[in-house]
Amino acid sequence: GAVIGILGGGQLGRMLSVAAARLGFRCHVFEPGAEPPAGDVAWRTTTAPYEDEIALRAFAASVDVVTYEFENVPARALDLIESLVPIRPGRRALATSQDRLTEKTFLRNLGLAVAPFAPVDDPASLRAALEEIGTPAILKTRRLGYDGKGQARLSGPQDVEAALAAMAGAPAILEGFVDFTAEVSVIAARGVSGEVAAYDPGENVHEGGILRTTTVPSSLDAGRRTDAVLLAARILNALDHVGVLGVELFVTPGGLVVNEIAPRVHNSGHWTQTGCVIDQFEQHVRAVAGWPLGDGTRHSDVVMENLIGDDMDRVPDLAASGAALHLYGKAEARPGRKMGHANRVTGPAG
Ligand code: ATP
Ligand code: MG
Ligand code: MG
Repeated sequence: GAVIGILGGGQLGRMLSVAAARLGFRCHVFEPGAEPPAGDVAWRTTTAPYEDEIALRAFAASVDVVTYEFENVPARALDLIESLVPIRPGRRALATSQDRLTEKTFLRNLGLAVAPFAPVDDPASLRAALEEIGTPAILKTRRLGYDGKGQARLSGPQDVEAALAAMAGAPAILEGFVDFTAEVSVIAARGVSGEVAAYDPGENVHEGGILRTTTVPSSLDAGRRTDAVLLAARILNALDHVGVLGVELFVTPGGLVVNEIAPRVHNSGHWTQTGCVIDQFEQHVRAVAGWPLGDGTRHSDVVMENLIGDDMDRVPDLAASGAALHLYGKAEARPGRKMGHANRVTGPAG
């Protein structure tokens, strides 16, 4: 049978591996970390940093297609892998989403609403950007940020020095603060032949920059729900994407504003494991393997709650509560670390 290569062995790689196994595929996970979550469900490369050409070649030679659980795979590693085996989703999705400046420019060029933004490389460009955008604003590193890391909020010019210090010299982007009433996301997939399937948008609540809960259905009205799904389809088509993509959106009185995209399965799509016949992980595997996409219809209303750090203390209670538990098998429950999630059905889909 075919073998799917997965770059990254965290919880997303783990859940992709489980879904792939259900469809009869084997997975080979490329993961430099010791004892990664995916390691106990898939065959994995033990020690293999992304600069190690021999390890990358051996990995690529052992699989039929490569996908990934995180978008920050170094370009040189991708070049090497791509010379041996297809990467899905492709390079355009990766290049676009690896850098917030490229990403925002791409979205704006598609005609989608984004927060006002400007590149920041030094104190002078930050001052110029602040003059143009005003405050409140958020300074973010262009690359490698997640869970709100690499971000600094500015409420006025007095915050310039602290914000620049938080970037530690890395290229950054200043974004105007979007006054949103809610955050939602669309998880959608595109197949090899260009068909698109989208899940119902979920409503997201963040705490301290980290996703706390996703609730379906969201509070969006029917028109906005359609807007959200159509906008995701436009992004998928423009990227010639194959696989699942997550689109994070701000809901404002003036319409939907795109925050960021992720060319992969997404934390805010974990509810699909309980709310849909075919969840986002199986959907991604189907797309990457060239299978027909599954139907994204939601059969149940669900609240997904992330279990972060010592939320793990609640696992015995949750286990008795009827929620579907997904635990990632991480040894140490550090503060801010995603340890698992619980999906609670709140009723049949209305
Ligand atoms: P993720 O873990 O989702 O990849 P991230 O580190 O890439 O997160 P963002 O999604 O850019 O960070 O921001 C995290 C959260 O901070 C957003 O979900 C939103 O709540 C808030 N936020 C980010 N940018 C803005 C903005 N321009 N205006 C208002 N709120 C914002
Ligand atoms: Mg992000
Ligand atoms: Mg985000």
